Amino acid sequence: MTALLPPPRFGGAFRTDVRARAAYAEGAGIYRILPDAVSLPETVADLERLVRWAGELGVPLVTRGAGSAVSGSNVGAGVIVDLARMQPVALDVDPDRRRAVTGASVTYQTLANAARAHGLRLPPDPSSGAFATLGGMVATNAAGARSVKYGPIRPWVRAVELVTADGESCRLERGASAGAAGALALVRFAGQAAPAIARSRGLIDERFPRTRKNTSGFALDAYSASGDLVDLVIGSEGTLGIITEIEWDLIAVPGHIGGMLVQLRDLDALADVVTALGRLEPSAVEFLDRSFLEVLPPAERPAGAAVLLVEFEAEDARQLRGRVGDAVRAVDAWAEDVQTALSEAEFADLWRLRHAASPILAGLPDSRRSLQVIEDGCVPLDRLTAYLRFVRARASDLGLPVVIFGHAGDGHLHVNVLPDVDRQGWEDAVGALMTAVTDEVLRLGGTPAGEHGDGRLRAGLVERLYGSDIMALFALVKAAFDPRGILNPGVILPEEWAPLDQLKAGPHAVPLPPDIAEALRTLERSAGYGQSRIALADRN
Ligand SMILES: Cc1cc2nc3c(=O)[nH]c(=O)nc-3n(C[C@H](O)[C@H](O)[C@H](O)COP(=O)(O)OP(=O)(O)OC[C@H]3O[C@@H](n4cnc5c(N)ncnc54)[C@H](O)[C@@H]3O)c2cc1C
Repeated sequence: MTALLPPPRFGGAFRTDVRARAAYAEGAGIYRILPDAVSLPETVADLERLVRWAGELGVPLVTRGAGSAVSGSNVGAGVIVDLARMQPVALDVDPDRRRAVTGASVTYQTLANAARAHGLRLPPDPSSGAFATLGGMVATNAAGARSVKYGPIRPWVRAVELVTADGESCRLERGASAGAAGALALVRFAGQAAPAIARSRGLIDERFPRTRKNTSGFALDAYSASGDLVDLVIGSEGTLGIITEIEWDLIAVPGHIGGMLVQLRDLDALADVVTALGRLEPSAVEFLDRSFLEVLPPAERPAGAAVLLVEFEAEDARQLRGRVGDAVRAVDAWAEDVQTALSEAEFADLWRLRHAASPILAGLPDSRRSLQVIEDGCVPLDRLTAYLRFVRARASDLGLPVVIFGHAGDGHLHVNVLPDVDRQGWEDAVGALMTAVTDEVLRLGGTPAGEHGDGRLRAGLVERLYGSDIMALFALVKAAFDPRGILNPGVILPEEWAPLDQLKAGPHAVPLPPDIAEALRTLERSAGYGQSRIALADRN
């Protein structure tokens, strides 16, 4: 293939050398795909030029934040668009209006620190917040432990600035009419997609899963409810436009935080315990399965079938004591042991358990890879135990170790599969597990993508979840925003779907310069997604 030439008058870096391409060949998920080029626009005008050029040549663009998304949406053939060098980088907190404006490349943690200085916060806090960019979080509708009380990122986004697939900038703001006189994408949307969606409200209501979280497909349910186009862009994984700036709603940091660690006697009552706790409005109900606890050193390993970490926020110490006391009584019948924490520091000590397994999993030998293929299933709360038991049993039948944890309060489980990649046939076993678990999630009325999106990994499952009529509406949305199909093709809407091809593990992985392959592996093991990939390419 002839190397691509940079777009005319493009002010940023445009690299086609193999080191730069290799540095962006992997994200946090299972894939390794060598892009054709890497671009680092420095201004919105550069970005607009890049997108217009891509449209003329039909070149795919894969927008990139920190590369920490796990569903394969941040890698692909075509040109990677790394927004890390975009200037100026907005980071303004308005304490009086409880609002913030940030550039897309600002990390969650940076905004959290800036907001905290004013006693404010953005409540849905993903555990990747130290490195995940706010643009990436909007594009995936990211969530976190506190989403059980505050929802995912969606309700906290007031407005986004977007470069559309036509290379035009536009602002989408809640409550403001997008207007037929706006950017071409909005005109097309108003003409073709909006009337069809309006006619299909009943169908949308019927077909979207009744789960507390869902990031599969385009959010027609949220858009139908609000009428705000920003709701379609949230969670669209770089397929409808490139976000350059975001306006946020913030709230006050809580006065007091505390909670408890519950060792559950058995799993039968999991849904009942979680439902009972839900009535007390906890700010987190996290679940650590026995498979997770077994990874911990024996001295740190709690007893019981599983552990729940439950957090409460309160205005004062008395209220907190009351809430934790109510929660202890609520779980009493099912608990083997309960430890309580009546201050933020004490609770942080209990919460340490939630992070204790990651370094251990990261240190597994090279032959034992932690793969995310069924990592994001979310089911109605009353089916959580059935789902958990199914995953455990099927993985065991297939000889695949798994580590399970998650956001029990939302009926949402993360499952890391740990195949021995030196074992013959491991890919077939992983494929069989993915098929079986997907069938079960759908049978239980759940979604395979609670908070990580479809990406490339699950694009071929979207039609199974929603049916062909909703797929036709998704296609109308995509055609309005991206008629030439240049923005992240193969993500959400499938092209040739082969979810377990182009893996980063195993003998068929595309070869990379050895030092870059090693650096990417180290980055994965240390969750070092904040590291600049272009700097990694240039370090020798
Ligand atoms: C250790 C670890 C813990 C995690 N914990 C959580 C968690 O608690 N909750 C959670 O929800 N997720 C979690 N994730 C997944 C991941 O961090 C989130 O999906 C995050 O939102 C991705 O942000 P990013 O900047 O890395 O985006 P990337 O991975 O770079 O991109 C993600 C998607 O967004 C698109 N995109 C990125 N920036 C833009 C933009 N400016 N405009 C348009 N599209 C864009 C990309 O094309 C891609 O489709 C975790 C991942 C890891 C590795």
